[in-house]
Amino acid sequence: MRKIFMLAAFALSATLAGAQAKYIFLFIGDGMGFGAVTLTEDYLAAVAASANKPGSGTLAYSTFPVSGFATTYSASSWVTCSAASGTALACGSKTRNGRIGMNEEATQSFTSIAYRLKEKGYKVGITTSVSIDHATPAAFYAHQASRNMYYEIAQDLATSGFDFFSGAGLVNPLGKDKKQENVVDIIEKNGYTVVRSLSDCQTSTAQKLLLLQPESKPQSAYPYVIDKAADDYTLASTTTLAIEKLRSGKGFFLMVEGGKIDWASHDNDAGSMVREMVDMSDAVKVALDFYRKYPKQTLIVITADHETGGLGVGNSENSATGVLGLANQKASVDKLAQRLAKAPVSYSEVKAWIVENMGITVTYDDDAMLRSLFAQNASPKPANDDTPCTLKNTGAMGKSIMRMVSARHGGGYSTFEHTGTMVPVYAIGEGSQLFSGKIDNTDIPKKIAKAAKIEWK
Ligand SMILES: [Zn+2]
Repeated sequence: MRKIFMLAAFALSATLAGAQAKYIFLFIGDGMGFGAVTLTEDYLAAVAASANKPGSGTLAYSTFPVSGFATTYSASSWVTCSAASGTALACGSKTRNGRIGMNEEATQSFTSIAYRLKEKGYKVGITTSVSIDHATPAAFYAHQASRNMYYEIAQDLATSGFDFFSGAGLVNPLGKDKKQENVVDIIEKNGYTVVRSLSDCQTSTAQKLLLLQPESKPQSAYPYVIDKAADDYTLASTTTLAIEKLRSGKGFFLMVEGGKIDWASHDNDAGSMVREMVDMSDAVKVALDFYRKYPKQTLIVITADHETGGLGVGNSENSATGVLGLANQKASVDKLAQRLAKAPVSYSEVKAWIVENMGITVTYDDDAMLRSLFAQNASPKPANDDTPCTLKNTGAMGKSIMRMVSARHGGGYSTFEHTGTMVPVYAIGEGSQLFSGKIDNTDIPKKIAKAAKIEWK
């Protein structure tokens, strides 16, 4: 009897295992390493307790039932760029840094998971918080020798046939020489409706949509969450719209990139980074709401393309690691660089701005570092702390200052670039068990195909 029961249970689980992922979400936190996850969860715990006591909060995905690690090296380097890792995550193949959806020699185009699912009748959505022609989203729809071929990448978007795109804008709509046909017109000629507000997107009945920021906003990326205005888009708002547009039909594949986790990490700006992490986590919550309605048909996978910044969380030499200070940071590195660039500016004014906006007091050591950085870049050479000056290298100055600020908040960066460490993978839903343990980034699209019962040839 017991044997029969066990056989029946086995048959039932085999049937369930035979189900197909019909609604598939792939979230890519660009630059999201374990340090970013840990520091953000420390920050969430500190904010919740309103005290600088050790603890761990939770991002929407860190308690998913399945988790693992992915290696990220590219064909040309231990340290990948977003083009090669995007190609790995989209197409399941290693390539050289810089290539988009093509092999090392740039002689052969790969077929991404998005095209494979589209061919099987799934609707496809590609969304990001940076420009839609940037490397990570591009790897899902474009085939170009270089990630810098923004115009050509946007032309590939026009002919992709995918159903929904959203991002900040297009980097090079008139081509490098600024003399080409506007690529927005080419996209429209290929059947897309281009909308530049969330409400226009909501009300549009178009079958193929491209949602961008208004032309009055930067086209390269959404503003950092920490600097956002009330009408700026969030990843949660665009994910909600994407689901609405894609849900009718046989199924969908939606890729959501948190692109500015990477940008904040390149700037060693931990206060901005944790807010970008929360922004993507809020978008995952939208997907989780959907999953709860269709748990047997939905798969949600979260990963990163690589780690950025070599972020360590605190150190035992510095017991005064002030994670709660991240909450008191009021502005991003962008605002800091703008303030530095606004001449005339004195050392006293810069220091006062940092204290006001970065949530730190300036210690004796910080003061020595800031003063020397200011003097190196100021003209005329400051006679005293109140000498009005013009500063050069304000972008680089901003990054150096943010490295110091972040260290005071518990985020110790080791580089302004990417690193080669493994990245986390989280999964929930139909087929999620495929994503456990140590895998390579090229496995991820193949496992998604397996969950969707599609043969990967
Ligand atoms: Zn990067």
